[in-house]
Amino acid sequence: MMDSGHAILIFASIAIAVALITMIARATFDPRSRIWGRLISRGPSDAPPRVALTFDDGPSSGPTDAILDILRDENVPAAFFVIGRNVARAPHLLKRMHDEGHLIGNHTYDHAHWGGFAGAEYWDQQLRKTDDVIEQQIGVRCAMFRPPLGIKTFWLTGVLKHRGQTMVTWSAKARDGVTTTVDEILKRLLPNASAGDIMLLHDGFDPHSPRDPQPSIDCLRPLIRSLREKGFQIVRLDELIGVEPYAKVPAEV
Ligand SMILES: [Zn+2]
Repeated sequence: MMDSGHAILIFASIAIAVALITMIARATFDPRSRIWGRLISRGPSDAPPRVALTFDDGPSSGPTDAILDILRDENVPAAFFVIGRNVARAPHLLKRMHDEGHLIGNHTYDHAHWGGFAGAEYWDQQLRKTDDVIEQQIGVRCAMFRPPLGIKTFWLTGVLKHRGQTMVTWSAKARDGVTTTVDEILKRLLPNASAGDIMLLHDGFDPHSPRDPQPSIDCLRPLIRSLREKGFQIVRLDELIGVEPYAKVPAEV
């Protein structure tokens, strides 16, 4: 039979293992966790209350055009975290985003879900390829990066630090990267909206999860108008978080 000292040792080992796994999971999946390195998940909560709208996974012909139309009509500056290979397919939409005053950020070249398990070399290549295709089109180099699905690792944060780029996640999400409705999106974003929020929506497609993009488009006008009715100013992400919009020198230097 096991003596009590032995039982305590086994119990303690299990407790430490569970705590360690929980810590690693949090560091990797929680968009606010800085355990693996520096990131920004929200802006300051000072007055007047400000929020920023951000769109991931574009550009994509159709949804991005419609979202840009609404942002222009409502006079709202936004941030687009673009996928490099989507930029290569629709460079005119990247130019339009930039010309109309929106901020461009890097969201990897391939948006591969297994990227979370890859090492520094993979991340360096994904960031570099995307920065290059963006710079070719609009002549600026991204200062901000958002990881696909918010999954970050020790290797990713190391590469970002080396490249001098800031990781930006979010504090509120529409969950519109999968099938949803306008009502559900508005319920997720509006009742708990607070000063400093970085809101995550989608203008493009995760290459691995097809969906109907219409709710992402149809929610936008009511979202903007309700935020303004609640007294929020909608500002561009770089203004909200006080980060330079683009890199001053090529990241390779
Ligand atoms: Zn994404």
